[in-house]
Amino acid sequence: MRRILVLSGGIGGARFLRGLLRAAPEAEVTVIGNTGDDIHLFGLKVCPDLDTVMYTLGGGIHEGQGWGRADETFAVKEELAAYGVGPEWFGLGDRDFATHIVRTQMLAAGYPLSAVTEALCQRWQPGVRLLPMTDDRVETHVLIDAPDGSGNDGGADGRRRAVHFQEYWVRLRAAVPAHAVVPVGADQARPAPGVLEAIAEADVVVFPPSNPVVSVGTILAVPGIREAIADAGVPVVGLSPIIGNAPVRGMADKVLAAVGVEATAAAVARHYGPGLLDAWLVDTVDADSVAEVEAAGIRCRAVPLLMTDTEATAEMARAALTIATEVKAA
Ligand code: GDP
Ligand code: CA
Repeated sequence: MRRILVLSGGIGGARFLRGLLRAAPEAEVTVIGNTGDDIHLFGLKVCPDLDTVMYTLGGGIHEGQGWGRADETFAVKEELAAYGVGPEWFGLGDRDFATHIVRTQMLAAGYPLSAVTEALCQRWQPGVRLLPMTDDRVETHVLIDAPDGSGNDGGADGRRRAVHFQEYWVRLRAAVPAHAVVPVGADQARPAPGVLEAIAEADVVVFPPSNPVVSVGTILAVPGIREAIADAGVPVVGLSPIIGNAPVRGMADKVLAAVGVEATAAAVARHYGPGLLDAWLVDTVDADSVAEVEAAGIRCRAVPLLMTDTEATAEMARAALTIATEVKAA
């Protein structure tokens, strides 16, 4: 299992990768990062999930928060607010701004996002090869009830509107019903250079405990990626982001509901399905669901899945590689 391919969102994926690098220091790890969360703010291109992976593995992350930079200040944001320029609900710090300025400048000069990401990683040296899922624009939108004109987001008249994922997640805190999650542009997107090659060369594919809908699901929505993984003929192993019928953090249950999937470890495994997933790890509190997952044709084991520190996370990565080895031997 020398070449490991991981499909990653932000916090859950990034923290898992830190443990994976501890567990398999000799491995060549390639990460396909979700770009469906990307957003243009203040004229700048912001890629939250790529940056979370880069900062986490590069030692620049705000550890407590899990996203953004450590030792951050917010002078630019305050100055923008003084001009009445928002949105104020998206927290961009001064250090973080520099990343988005460099990225936007390079994109404007004609570099594709994959080349820009590689350039940014030269500073951060994340210890993995970080590839955006695509160089094309994909934006996850969430269908919610439209305001009914009463001033409340009531939607009493049944009308709906699509909002950018970040507006739904950060501004609305996923507190209004989501009727659908749409990765706008995904059907026209092509995998970024290197993505299909990395899948073809991988010895194992890992779905970390990232959001199954808006992180891993969005990556799989880029035509060619799901098929390449399913056809690669190597073990595909996932770790549940759902423990005890709830997300460990965040609001994954809300977007799972939008795609008609129960927020349980077993339901997420069935959502990926045996055509894609060979093995699945659930937390020990969900040991009861092992039989259900195995009945669906997916090898399953219960192990502790809380990423409390790097060593605990490394142990999760070891369990994932072990079950991958079993799949291969079977
Ligand atoms: P995001 O893009 O920042 O939302 O990050 P990801 O999509 O990569 O990961 C989000 C998911 O990570 C959430 O659904 C959480 O339930 C999951 N998560 C966070 N911490 C842990 C943990 O310690 N253990 C497990 N199993 N999942 C976790
Ligand atoms: Ca994300």
